[in-house]
Amino acid sequence: MPRHPIIKVVNKLRDKFPPAYPVKIVFNKNINSSCLGLCTLVKQGRKSIFRISLTDYLNNYPDEYQDLASSVMLESLIHEWAHALNWSHLHDNNEEHPIHDETWGVWYAKLYNYIFYEIKDPWI
Ligand SMILES: [Zn+2]
Repeated sequence: MPRHPIIKVVNKLRDKFPPAYPVKIVFNKNINSSCLGLCTLVKQGRKSIFRISLTDYLNNYPDEYQDLASSVMLESLIHEWAHALNWSHLHDNNEEHPIHDETWGVWYAKLYNYIFYEIKDPWI
């Protein structure tokens, strides 16, 4: 299976906004899921990684909805990436409900500005 197109965007975020631990992206194929994305801290032996799960709208919506699907996936990605950047001990006991506090909002704004304004086309 070819790489998902959003991995190009992910690589840009890895370069420009690296979180404290490596990020692994996994795709949720169930587009009926009420969950657009989820960021969790996963322990792998002595190492930790962030696992960001994204619902794969791009490969599961018809052609006429590709623009919308692209926007939804970008917004979900930066939402979850902001959780990774904003991770703290407060999250460790509450992984299913990450916190949308002020510092999360500042990260989200920075990522939003980068993806939607600073770079002309995040997909290339
Ligand atoms: Zn969230």
